[in-house]
Amino acid sequence: MSIAQNLTRIKTQLPEGVKLVAVSKFKPVSDIQEAYNAGQRAFGENRVQELADKQLQLPADIEWHMIGHLQSNKIKYMAAFVHLIHGVDSFKLLQEIDKQAVKAGRTLNCLLQIHIAQEETKFGFDKNEVTEMLNSDAFKALTHVQICGVMGMATLTDDESQVRGEFRTLKQLFDELKTRFFANSAAFKEISMGMSGDYSIAVEEGSTIVRIGSSIFGSR
Ligand SMILES: *Cc1c(COP(=O)(O)O)cnc(C)c1O
Repeated sequence: MSIAQNLTRIKTQLPEGVKLVAVSKFKPVSDIQEAYNAGQRAFGENRVQELADKQLQLPADIEWHMIGHLQSNKIKYMAAFVHLIHGVDSFKLLQEIDKQAVKAGRTLNCLLQIHIAQEETKFGFDKNEVTEMLNSDAFKALTHVQICGVMGMATLTDDESQVRGEFRTLKQLFDELKTRFFANSAAFKEISMGMSGDYSIAVEEGSTIVRIGSSIFGSR
């Protein structure tokens, strides 16, 4: 199946209001252009250098999503154009994003990455850490970051009930944070969860953004 056919098939499975981010990491710009020609506008990359290289070569109306683990010293390369940073997993990183946003003269949209999987290797805040940060004066002092919601990755497993449980945990935490910290924020509305292998479950559990790579572009 072609990239355009894959996009069509996936989009018919997504409810209205769930955004599809096409994850194009390691894929050539020609693949992205093909998806763009089929109407796709939101793309996700997990390395800043690759993101910046591709952004230069592709149409200006693409919405670029940074979905991977971030290093503080790389933020400057995308601050001028990135649409949404999904993987914010420490206050230190958020502070640096704020600093680069000031320099770029923009407000940068961020999602707080929450650790929901069993695997030790996946990055993210736990509930206590995120609560502590949101309560802190240092957090409240940031001026150029907008927290738009949360992001999480489920355990890589065939156990559907485990994956569902992890997504449900993320949705519950989102609801709790919304009530406690973001009741007056129209921007805090996104739950980025679901990849090629688990997006149907994620959507059932309340995802608002799915990040899908291999089901669109083929395996990497
Ligand atoms: C690679 C990646 C995806 C997409 O994974 P697929 O299984 O190819 O759909 C989604 N989210 C993150 C954070 C990724 O790194």
